[in-house]
Amino acid sequence: MSDPVFAAQPYAGIATFGRMPHTTDVQNADVAILGIPYDSSTSYRAGTRFGPRAIREQSMLLWGYNNAQGVAPFRSLKIVDYGDVDVVPPSIAATHQQIELTAAKILEGGAKLISLGGDHSITLPLLRAHAQKHGPMAVVHFDAHPDTWDSEYPGQPYSHGTPFKRAFDEGLMDKSAYVQIGIRGPTNGPQDYTDALALGTRMITLDEFRQRTVADVIQEVRAKIGDRPTYVTLDIDVVDPAFAPGTGTPEVGGLTSYEILQLVRGLRGANTVGFDLVEVSPPYDPAQITSILAANLAFEFLSLLV
Ligand code: MN
Ligand code: MN
Repeated sequence: MSDPVFAAQPYAGIATFGRMPHTTDVQNADVAILGIPYDSSTSYRAGTRFGPRAIREQSMLLWGYNNAQGVAPFRSLKIVDYGDVDVVPPSIAATHQQIELTAAKILEGGAKLISLGGDHSITLPLLRAHAQKHGPMAVVHFDAHPDTWDSEYPGQPYSHGTPFKRAFDEGLMDKSAYVQIGIRGPTNGPQDYTDALALGTRMITLDEFRQRTVADVIQEVRAKIGDRPTYVTLDIDVVDPAFAPGTGTPEVGGLTSYEILQLVRGLRGANTVGFDLVEVSPPYDPAQITSILAANLAFEFLSLLV
């Protein structure tokens, strides 16, 4: 049966996320999609400023019904594509301020937010905006990297390697309910992990994940977050570069596309209050492999909200 929303061809028309209307009027919206095209705090190869546009383009191919979750988010929710934050490439401080203001405005109107990065530094101002509304939140963090350095460059507290240390310092996260999943790869030394663990992180490394079942890991995560307001942040480099090559700091030996879909679906019924998906870098993404996966993961986020 044809659906008027999806009557157009996936390659025709201007690409908003899932063909949802582009508007900054969030009154009565259930969910807003927000692009954050900022990559100036990337430590290796850049390009995630092109992420939101690439993900929107691939989202045109999403069909409306999610068979795995049994929901049709584009029909059941009022979704708007808010467009992009006005980022300031040479200034992380000014960019963070713009992100926080924009996110706070959207949340104030009652909509939930799905943000598309951009590098992982953007999560800090998003957590600030969400914490204004919800207080310290449980955080489920999918990533190859802990991102809990105190600083990545001398005297620079803000970058894509530090957002969760800063979020702890600012009291934005519930220390008893912070889970990292998929951590792996070489580091500067053992302190990268021991420092993260000292913050109270439950770190499920990729090696640990491989010894367990997906269901078992989901069960532990759900027990940890309980019914707390929970923020979900997904760095696409948690997925193996064989499945998601378009990213700035790839680490071999990661999750498969199917495993990350299963893990996200495992959050169904949790009290999720916000989502972001970061580090998609289209210049390193042959055949749009990574942005297709990212569009589908954002669709899973939307589906969780139905
Ligand atoms: Mn990250
Ligand atoms: Mn990462």
